[in-house]
Amino acid sequence: MLSKKEILDVLKSKDIPKDLLEEAFKVRKFYSGYYVYLRALTEITNICRKSCFYCGIRKENASLKRYYLKFDLINKLFTNIKKLGYSSIALQGGEIFSEKHYFFLYKLIKLAKDKFNYEITISFGELPKDVLEKLYFLGAKRYLLRFEIISPKRYYLFHYKDKFHNYENRIKTLVLLKKIGYQVGTGNLIGLPFTFIKDLYKDILFIKNFKPDMVGIGPYIPQKNTPLFNYLTKGINIFSEKERFLLTLKLIAIFRILLKTSNIVASTALITLGTKFYPLEKVLNLAFKCGANVIMPIFTPSENKRLYSLYEDKYFSEHEKFYFAVKNSDFIPVLDRYGNPLSYYIRNQKSCKL
Ligand code: SF4
Repeated sequence: MLSKKEILDVLKSKDIPKDLLEEAFKVRKFYSGYYVYLRALTEITNICRKSCFYCGIRKENASLKRYYLKFDLINKLFTNIKKLGYSSIALQGGEIFSEKHYFFLYKLIKLAKDKFNYEITISFGELPKDVLEKLYFLGAKRYLLRFEIISPKRYYLFHYKDKFHNYENRIKTLVLLKKIGYQVGTGNLIGLPFTFIKDLYKDILFIKNFKPDMVGIGPYIPQKNTPLFNYLTKGINIFSEKERFLLTLKLIAIFRILLKTSNIVASTALITLGTKFYPLEKVLNLAFKCGANVIMPIFTPSENKRLYSLYEDKYFSEHEKFYFAVKNSDFIPVLDRYGNPLSYYIRNQKSCKL
């Protein structure tokens, strides 16, 4: 177990400390071996009712062309994903409050579960309680909702303070998701401007105490059509790209040691930054050694995935490239097993469907 001082020393160190890496890798090997679970990700829509200051698909970005994938197209994508051997999918999109959207999601989850028997992760923001319950009932068993930054004061540096952007509702939704029974994934955005090591430490403490089944964290990467980017052009101080990349790896290692059995994603944002410095295989090898055991190749059609532009130069992680990169990074890609985290079964004392 890591003490406060040890965590702060790790966060302040220039590189990834050797003993941290060794310990994280030891824990990873014990609970996950060399396995890396692949989840096929489809970004259903880039429409969102929110306007987070760091995000490229924020509602106020009027220059972005919006899309909403059609049911038949998604059905075809699911068929292709199945043919490739996947047993787990992830569906993601902006936060939309409309009956039409909810019914579409119900239809999708029924399709994914009843026709394809996928294990389903969803990420559609802070939806109403009855909608979250129904999605769970229909077969979506994993929900990803990042809190981004746990300090309420800092949260409102990056969000309006209005009915759409409400810190308390975000945290309440996380608690609700767990109560409903979802395997909950959460995480923070690392290296935002105006944030410091002490903020990261608070994020870590929250995650440690919340004990999510999945950790999804990523480095902050600016996007040109956002208010935050305008600040950056005025020359404010920010962790460098390399620092944000290394901080993310260090957090992965810390979470592997603290949480042990939870799944941890090697996020697209981490790969986007990492591949600016190293080949893909090396980035993956580092992330997996630190403790990540999940990756999500993107299956969104190419004309749409360009429009899911959360940040600049997003890495388009295609299936084949990722599958072989995992192999070449000396780990084992897994498609045909669900890869549910042991933490979920330990908490619920259920029998394992690994
Ligand atoms: S971060 Fe999420 S909730 Fe915020 S604007 Fe982007 S898609 Fe919407």
